Amino acid sequence: MHKFTVLIVEDEKSISDFIFKILSSHDYRVKCASTGKEALSLASSLCPDIILLDMGLPDIDGMEVIQQIRLWSGCPIIVISARTQEDDKVRALDAGADDYLTKPFGTSELLARIRTSLRHSNKSNSENGLPQHPYRAKGLEIDFFKRNITVDGQSIHLTPIEYKIVAFLAQNSGKVMTYSAVMNNVWGPYAESDNKILRVNMANIRRKLEKNPAQPVYIFTEVGVGYRMAEDEDH
Ligand code: CA
Repeated sequence: MHKFTVLIVEDEKSISDFIFKILSSHDYRVKCASTGKEALSLASSLCPDIILLDMGLPDIDGMEVIQQIRLWSGCPIIVISARTQEDDKVRALDAGADDYLTKPFGTSELLARIRTSLRHSNKSNSENGLPQHPYRAKGLEIDFFKRNITVDGQSIHLTPIEYKIVAFLAQNSGKVMTYSAVMNNVWGPYAESDNKILRVNMANIRRKLEKNPAQPVYIFTEVGVGYRMAEDEDH
């Protein structure tokens, strides 16, 4: 049986041990690095399936580790960061990290993030780039071929822009998408740098999709970073 290999890059031994124990007991093969240099060397010798990367390392800045790895590898990278470092999270995601975990995090969150990132790295889209299966979560269903959205069987009318936002988040469900990633996908390279137009659209989307827009169950806000859509239940 092929086990997935996870490389943990973390200089705090207690956190590294914690992650090691969880992942080993869930059938992952796990290796640990405690410096950026060691991380870069293990990333190339080990070819891990996924990398968990602490941003505050003793030698090389985590951002540089991401940039170095991205020069030659598309291996999913999940950043581990402190709650206060929102700018860092955005920079890491824009530099090519796939997602992040905020310290302190629990077992289920860790496993869910890893599952989602592995799934996206093996994503099998059809020829036209559309997902082969509809998105389904908590009564919400999106048929990407018909461009049809229903909640509990009731058809929802979205504007073309609103649809593009929701479809993009659904195609990346379970993963955080930064404001700029959504803006670039929907409005293209000439998107405004200000994300006000996105927030206005999101308010309208939530009004249409969510039973209580103040407590969304489909599209969550990651404060200062972007949006995360509930994970597709079919996966
Ligand atoms: Ca650290």
